Amino acid sequence: MLRSSQNLPERIDARRARMAAAAASAGRNVDSVTLLAVSKGQPAELIRAAAAAGVTDIGESYVAEALAKMETLADLPLTWHFIGRLQANKTRPVAERFAWVHGLDRLKIAERLCAQRPYHAPALNVCIQVSLGDEASKGGVPSPEVPALAAAVAALPRLALRGLMCIPPEEADPARQRGWFARLRTLRDSLNAAGLRLDALSMGMSGDFEAAIQEGATLVRIGTALFGPRGS
Ligand SMILES: *Cc1c(COP(=O)(O)O)cnc(C)c1O
Repeated sequence: MLRSSQNLPERIDARRARMAAAAASAGRNVDSVTLLAVSKGQPAELIRAAAAAGVTDIGESYVAEALAKMETLADLPLTWHFIGRLQANKTRPVAERFAWVHGLDRLKIAERLCAQRPYHAPALNVCIQVSLGDEASKGGVPSPEVPALAAAVAALPRLALRGLMCIPPEEADPARQRGWFARLRTLRDSLNAAGLRLDALSMGMSGDFEAAIQEGATLVRIGTALFGPRGS
């Protein structure tokens, strides 16, 4: 047994309890929040252990690493989310194998994913990544450019534009964490007021998922708090 898989069910349960408390404090039902276990840099065996403990949704950041794990875990009914930066020459396997793409920030990538999504598969769920602060290195579209990109992506037939995603600057203060997430929620609400139908907010990681849930997150992406430090 891998050392880091010890206590994994307990760690998952502890995170779920904190998710439920955060949801309750905001008057939300925890069932409206999906725990996405981020397994980049972790072995497939840990994902198998997480699945045995009830995890259904897996986030991966690197295409080749994810494809290898999908092969190993083909017997499990997992939902795979691509959460990394996607290069144009790597879109095909993502379009073919993943259920969600969270870091969309260019129309060119969206068009390729649409063209490459197999016809027998349901539409590929996508979230547009928004850069809220001084976070250029993490990618994302500046808020003022989001409405035009969202309208163009929403028109692509093989994609389902589900919502927005962010990786805000790290903040220790929960009030400041909430401030960033509130901005993403407000932007989502303004897009819906303008006629889109976005239900998803992909926001919150190991250090700030409670603040994200209080501000309306529907998907929290948690890595190290579940699996421990990543190998590289
Ligand atoms: C790695 C990663 C996460 C998980 O980060 P942790 O701090 O380990 O929880 C979440 N979202 C994205 C986009 C990531 O790349």
